[in-house]
Amino acid sequence: MTLNTVKKIFKKHGFPVYFAEYGKVALNKENNEKGYKTVFLTYLPYAYAPSPDQNICRYAALEDYHVYLPSRLSVVKKELEDCFKSYVFDIYTDDSPIDEKIAAEISGLGIRGKNSLIITREHGSFVLLAEIISDIEIECECRTPAYCENCGKCEAACPSGALKDGRIDRERCISAITQKRGKLTEEEEALVVKNGLIWGCDRCQEVCPYNSGNKESDYAKSSVKLTRLTSSDIDGLTDKQFRDKYFGRAFTWRGLNPIKRNIYLIENKGENK
Ligand code: SF4
Ligand code: SF4
Repeated sequence: MTLNTVKKIFKKHGFPVYFAEYGKVALNKENNEKGYKTVFLTYLPYAYAPSPDQNICRYAALEDYHVYLPSRLSVVKKELEDCFKSYVFDIYTDDSPIDEKIAAEISGLGIRGKNSLIITREHGSFVLLAEIISDIEIECECRTPAYCENCGKCEAACPSGALKDGRIDRERCISAITQKRGKLTEEEEALVVKNGLIWGCDRCQEVCPYNSGNKESDYAKSSVKLTRLTSSDIDGLTDKQFRDKYFGRAFTWRGLNPIKRNIYLIENKGENK
């Protein structure tokens, strides 16, 4: 009964839902002050066709999901609270106390790709995970984790060789490198230039067969896209002015300097223009 009611509430607001036992997926199993028992795991598809001159990876060119998703999920939370009074329902996006990828696998939300990402059957891997965690107890429908079709296209397409045997080397991943603060090594600089994006990297997702039939998602359709930034957009801005100008964009979370460094590298302008 409880399981079906929760499913109905998520469905009513346009979200799929999968269940995992909190104790099996918590990052710190010893520390559970709120008495969490169940994770309601969901996702937001964000696929769309990039513009030809796009230089920001796909998720970051949309309105920040850290704002969009909690706002959409707050309606689900409210309805759960009305339905199951006296229980706690907390929303998490990114800063979660659980291992989202393990939760996604055992709950049946998706399978693990060789590119280290979670792939959903319906929307491929261009999805953003989020969850509501509760102290309500629900019998979870756990699955045995499955693996992708192992075609190897993601490994072959990775411009930096960061993928090997289903693992990602974060030190070599260009998405992580574009988000680093401070001066990059010469090798890192070369990788940023080779990839050509000022923020993030989508290569290992673009080539994955599970993403080939993706239609533009509702979130992508409704979002005002900002797909390209050049030096003329940021020259002369202070960090605060940059954050104000691009408020509500995920690429601002590290401030102006990493973006500016990446733009200058790609435009070959040197550091001290
Ligand atoms: S995001 Fe880019 S650099 Fe990182 S693993 Fe995927 S293809 Fe390689
Ligand atoms: S590209 Fe192939 S190997 Fe890589 S995640 Fe997709 S299906 Fe798996």
